Amino acid sequence: MKHFPIFLAVEGHRIVLSGGGDAAMAKLRLLMKTEAQLTVIAAEISGDIRKWAAQGKLRFVERAMEPGDAAGAALFYAANEDDAEDARVAAIAHAEGALVNIVDNLADSQFITPAIVDRDPVTVAIGTEGAAPVLARAIKADLEERLPTSLGVLARIGKTFRHAVDILPMGRKRRDFWTSFYFGAGPKALDAGEAAVIPALETLLDTHVMATDKQGSVDLVGAGPGDPELLTLKARNALDKADVVIHDRLVTGEILELARREAIIIDAGKEGFGKAMLQSDIDALIVRHALDGHHVVRLKAGDPTVFGRLDEEIEAIEAHDIPYRVIPGITAASAAVANIGQSLTKRHRNSAVRLITGHDTKGYADHDWKALAAPGEVAAIYMGKKSARFIQGRLLMHGADPSTPVTIIENVSRADQRIIATTLVEMEPTMTQADLKGPAITFYGLAPRDAQARAENLREFA
Ligand code: SAH
Repeated sequence: MKHFPIFLAVEGHRIVLSGGGDAAMAKLRLLMKTEAQLTVIAAEISGDIRKWAAQGKLRFVERAMEPGDAAGAALFYAANEDDAEDARVAAIAHAEGALVNIVDNLADSQFITPAIVDRDPVTVAIGTEGAAPVLARAIKADLEERLPTSLGVLARIGKTFRHAVDILPMGRKRRDFWTSFYFGAGPKALDAGEAAVIPALETLLDTHVMATDKQGSVDLVGAGPGDPELLTLKARNALDKADVVIHDRLVTGEILELARREAIIIDAGKEGFGKAMLQSDIDALIVRHALDGHHVVRLKAGDPTVFGRLDEEIEAIEAHDIPYRVIPGITAASAAVANIGQSLTKRHRNSAVRLITGHDTKGYADHDWKALAAPGEVAAIYMGKKSARFIQGRLLMHGADPSTPVTIIENVSRADQRIIATTLVEMEPTMTQADLKGPAITFYGLAPRDAQARAENLREFA
């Protein structure tokens, strides 16, 4: 770090700028946001400097800079867009003890002005040490979009309420209070106008004070395959009472809609800038919210006991003696098989069904391929998109009938559900060609009922 970012107290202090052209105007627009005493010194000016002077926003001295002009200034900007003149005025200001910036001259500047996102009193300063101004602008634009304009208003009102929050123990409890204010209750209240913010703070504080004495708990809830009507009543009731909902990537928006309005919703499967959250981070998150006295709903796609890493979460919860329940859900295999009119098991066909995963944490998952290759076997393959060719190869190698039916069902129970009927030998490239975007489950040994009936008819007439 060649430049160290700080926030300089400028209220009531002098900032002097030499120059009256475009570069000067650009800096002035920024500097006028501060509570500093601004002085502009320029023999020639364009733009609005005279108007701003008349409005009392700055003091304007209409001549070239002279020694003494920067006396007592905290900061000095040389913005003449003329190297020789900038060097001359910078030398004067430097001698008079001001920190000097020469616009567009990094090497001779003592400080640089960052790109600023202004949500006063919240300000974000972005600097690249002159290396990549374009990048700084892109980051600024991104943050401008992300940080609600209301943030500044909330921070200002929040500041007046700080003393009331002393009632909460220091540390996490207070941080949680402010997090739910800035990202939940605050913006919501502001929709109804600034006057609604203090009452919202009071209500929120009440809930947090009460929650400190409350025993937290965790419900590990199956959200089913996506259709909200496939939720259990128990799952609905849990969502209705949730303080915090921590959900997987596959849980649909329609289901999250059912959570209590005041609940904090956390996406633990978010794949924003980097990877999805680590399992250990998710465990810690669940525990933290429960220890804070919250009713946590850990919402998992399908059934939490099927490829859901449930045991790791239970171990973390038990380690802290937090009470918990497991609320089952409809697993993808059950919902999918219902939609192709088949059973998972069937007399004289298969008396057992396997739920297998295409890959595990170590890569492609191995299974008893020989047993699976026998006639009549049925397996539901979860997470089987990438491993389709591997599974196909293993089964064929172990003597499975190439014409064994295979059915791929994408987005089970959702509006965009797709059913793709194929056979083992065609499983790839069919899978790749299908260009699956949503979650998909593959049935080995099952065809959709109508397709199967058609095949049987054809055989009869042949
Ligand atoms: N606990 C979940 C499974 C989690 S593993 C359950 O019981 O269903 C994730 C895999 O589940 C996905 O890769 C996919 O194979 C399957 N899956 C989950 N939801 C699905 C859906 N709506 N449609 C198709 N497959 C789904």
